[in-house]
Amino acid sequence: MSKAFASQADLADKKITFEQLSPHCWAYTAEGDPNSGVIIGEKFIMVSDATATPAMARDLIARIREVSDKPIKYVLLTHYHAVRVLGASAFFAEGATEIIASQGTQELIVERGKEDMQSEMDRFPRLFRNAESVPGLTWPTMVIGGGDPTRGEVPGKLVVDLGGVKVQIWHPGPGHTRGDTIAWVEEEKVLYSGDLVEFEAGVYTGDAHLEEWPATLEALRALKAEAIVPGRGEAMKGRSEVERALDYTKQWVETLYRCACEAAAADMDLKQAMAHTRKSMDPVFGHVFIYEHCLPFDVSRAYDEARGIKNPRIWTAERDKEMWASLQD
Ligand SMILES: [Zn+2]
Repeated sequence: MSKAFASQADLADKKITFEQLSPHCWAYTAEGDPNSGVIIGEKFIMVSDATATPAMARDLIARIREVSDKPIKYVLLTHYHAVRVLGASAFFAEGATEIIASQGTQELIVERGKEDMQSEMDRFPRLFRNAESVPGLTWPTMVIGGGDPTRGEVPGKLVVDLGGVKVQIWHPGPGHTRGDTIAWVEEEKVLYSGDLVEFEAGVYTGDAHLEEWPATLEALRALKAEAIVPGRGEAMKGRSEVERALDYTKQWVETLYRCACEAAAADMDLKQAMAHTRKSMDPVFGHVFIYEHCLPFDVSRAYDEARGIKNPRIWTAERDKEMWASLQD
């Protein structure tokens, strides 16, 4: 039997949880769907990841309004993926003025944002069922990692004071993409990792830098967070739970990349690499949310990287389906 493309058969609504992790930090999670974070200060609110569509973002805004009437001034894009950025215009309508992203993310939006939007809309019909509400690509107003303040660029680390709580934002290294950023509330030890960390959900690596990702995870581990809002999966509370999420992600990334390197060394083709990788991945991860969606994209990228392709190839709606037909049908 052939498998429905990506998440096209995944149409049942998820239960959303909006929970408080510390005095100023909140998590908006939905059973393996893309998460958002919310940091509520005495003056301003920051949202980390904007959801897939303005319609979906309005649900997040409604949850925030149940607990705070402060202005939502800042929206952080942890990376460029459409399911995380295309809801941003709803926050503008709510008064947000700043969209924060890294220089790497800005470059990726320029280079492949359009292709990614089309590809992700086809992959996730449930998340994009209000796609007509998306006005177009989302562009940052503050760019971390550049050196030109006249263009809104901030070198190194950005610290945003929301009133009574400070948020540190920086690019800790390549991983899920080459532009990932995190938000870290040091006083409360809460980390918003975006898709650099997942838990009990597929770790999508189709645009990843697999060899470098584990070192980036170790940089996050060194923060000694007491709570983490991963990109997908429930918020993890307590040091040992944070470690579990980091270990889970690292095991996925390392197992996948090791299999791809073995496949490349043995001169396997992509289909053989997929079968080889399944032997190690299926028994450990086969049960988690969006596993079958992620795996063929992940193996495609891992196989490329193992064969020396440094910059992930751009996924288009057409390339998605060709790859799927050859690996999953
Ligand atoms: Zn992502």
